[in-house]
This record gives sequence, structure tokens and C-alpha cells, in this order.
Amino acid sequence: MFEYRGFMLDSVRHMQSLDEIKKLVDAIALLGFNKFHWHLTDDQGWRFECDSFPELNTVAAVRPYSDFGKTRINEPYGRVYSKDEMREVVAYCAEKGLDVIPEFDVPGHTSALLSAMPELSCEGRKVKIKTHQGIFKDVLCLANEKTFEVITAIIDEFLEIFPGEYFHIGGDEAPSHHWKHCPHCQKRMKELGVKSYAEYQNCFMNRLIDYLESKGRHCIVWNEAARGANLDKRAIIQYWKEKEKPSIDFINSGGKAILSPFSYCYLDYDYLITPLNRVYSLNSDIPGLTDEGKKNIVGVEAPIWTEYISDINRLEELLFPRIIAVSKVALAENNKSYTEFLCDVNEIRNRLSSYNFCNEKMWTKSRTSMPLGWLKFVKDHYTIDFIKEQLF
Ligand SMILES: [Zn+2]
Repeated sequence: MFEYRGFMLDSVRHMQSLDEIKKLVDAIALLGFNKFHWHLTDDQGWRFECDSFPELNTVAAVRPYSDFGKTRINEPYGRVYSKDEMREVVAYCAEKGLDVIPEFDVPGHTSALLSAMPELSCEGRKVKIKTHQGIFKDVLCLANEKTFEVITAIIDEFLEIFPGEYFHIGGDEAPSHHWKHCPHCQKRMKELGVKSYAEYQNCFMNRLIDYLESKGRHCIVWNEAARGANLDKRAIIQYWKEKEKPSIDFINSGGKAILSPFSYCYLDYDYLITPLNRVYSLNSDIPGLTDEGKKNIVGVEAPIWTEYISDINRLEELLFPRIIAVSKVALAENNKSYTEFLCDVNEIRNRLSSYNFCNEKMWTKSRTSMPLGWLKFVKDHYTIDFIKEQLF
């Protein structure tokens, strides 16, 4: 059994009510999960009530409209969760045996933060909060000392609400475009003697890791952060991007990792792309990992991203039954045959009867409509052969 058994919920692109979150927590606790990773900041919104910088609660929390997938919704969307609400989630999770791991994603995925605090960007100009899916150029200026001061002040507020051992600081999808053109960042890079933007980013991440360690917390980062070989080994990488040699090197040389390979664990993907049997087949046999490296896998986590999930029914039908397969992997109970596992699914399904299990045909559905942005994402991340294999 893995000591870290996680589920991640994206409450930025679309929010969930406290009752909905509690209901999900009930299910994942029953399935043996012990970590609830709560994604609270991103390009399209800011969900953490902040006293030190109240503009985050107004400007950064609300996007003017939403343009995910086929339908544009011409209404402002979003708010922060109040501190009382977040404390309620933490207390509820604790009752069910789950730690909450908050995610404050830096230095990329910060368009919403920068829309309220443009002085933390390289150019200092107004940044728009984002209304659609994507990877955006807006990142924190890492040469500005004020950036570190503000980010750590916000982290301090997070720590008051979330008492758990782990803290997620993101580290994914941070384009270097602005750093290349920022004289301050260029000067700072020379001073630091770093050879790549990945290493430059990690100088900042390592400072945060050091800061959080000094507060008794361990950091988790998405595994792109390992592209800079200088990543502090005290960080745990969340292995979502597959076939990343720097991540394999990080793990083989003693770094810890949580398995979330997207083609198995990203439960927002349609069943067409990630059928139930594929999720159940997940294991630690990652090409390139040594036997020693395998021992550094400390956990498994299934994220669900909500760009295209605006209501809880859709979220539940994507989650169930695949989250059961993730739980079996996390609990190391995936040694049964797939047929036997399906019997278990039926038994567990009865216990989770108040949740929206989609029609069984959907589990192996051969075709489905997909929003264009999502198709592009699939095209960018999967090989044609893989897609063909799934379709035909
Ligand atoms: Zn800069």
C-alpha cells in the first residue's frame, strides 16, 4: 500500500459547493484515500480568501466570462472560498482521515494573481485573468524581491488554514518568454550562474521549499520542475508528464515521487481516451526506473481538472468508477484480474449508490463528442498511434 493516496480537485476553473466537496470526500475516504489535494489558484481564477492582499478576493477571483469548449458563458464567474469555509473542509476531511494539501501554483498559472497584482510580473503591465484553457505566458518576475515577499506572505495565510504536512507549490507550465525579455531576470540569471530557465525557475522554487521546510512543511511540485537538475531533493515530484527523463533521473537518484501519469490518472479525460481498464493497469513499472527508484514512489494521485466540468453530475460520472481503480492501485489491491476487479466495482457501486455512476456503456464507449480545445490538448499530448489504438 502506498502511504500517500490522493485525489485532486480543481476548484478554480469551476467551483464546487461545500456540500458537494463533502460528498466527494465521503466517497474517497470510503475508498481508502488519505489525501485531498485542493487546487485553489490558476490562470482563470483565485479561490483562497486572502487578508493581506484583498484585491485577490475581488479582482483575481472573478473572470468576466467563461469560454471553455463549445459554449461561451457571458457572465462573470467565481469567488473565493472564505477562510471559514476552507476550515470547514479541513475539519471535515480530518474527521474522515484525510489531510488537505492546498495548491498555490507558481510561478506559472498566475494570470489571475497578476491581474490583481501586475507589479509582480516582469513588465509590470496589466495582465488579464484568463477565460479559456491553455498555457499562458504570464508568469511571476523571479528577479523582483517583492515577488518572494508577497508569495511567502500569502503562503503564511495558507498555513494558518491548512495544518497538514504537505504543501503544493505547482511549478508546472511556466513559459520563459517574459524572463527572456526582462532585464532584471537576465541580470539575476547571470548572478545565479544558472544555465537554463528551468534552473532559474528552480532557484525560486528552492527558496520556497526552504521556506516551507522551515515551517515544518514538505513541498510537492509538478514534475516539469525536475527539468532543472537543481531541484531541491526535499521536494516530492508529482509525475503527471510521462516520458520525462529528468524526472526519472530525479527519482532514481533519491527524489520522491507521486504517480499521476496523465494517460492513466487524469479522470477528467473521457472514457474513450482513458477507459476503466487502463486506469486499473497503472503500476510503478515506469520505463527507466531502477529497482531503487521504484522504492522512491511514495504515492498515487488522481486529479480531476474542471475546465469542461461545470456541474457535479458530470464530475461524478467521470470519477466513478475510475476512482475505484485508482484506489485499488493506491492500496496495492490491483493484483486481481480485471474481471474480478469488475465484481469489486459492482459491490462498491452499491455502497456508493448516491453517486452518479454513468451508464456502463460509457465505460467502454467508442465515440464521443469532444470540445475543440480538449481535442487540441489530446493532439498535443498523445501520439496518433495511441489515439488510433483507443478508437479502433
Ligand atoms: Zn523578470
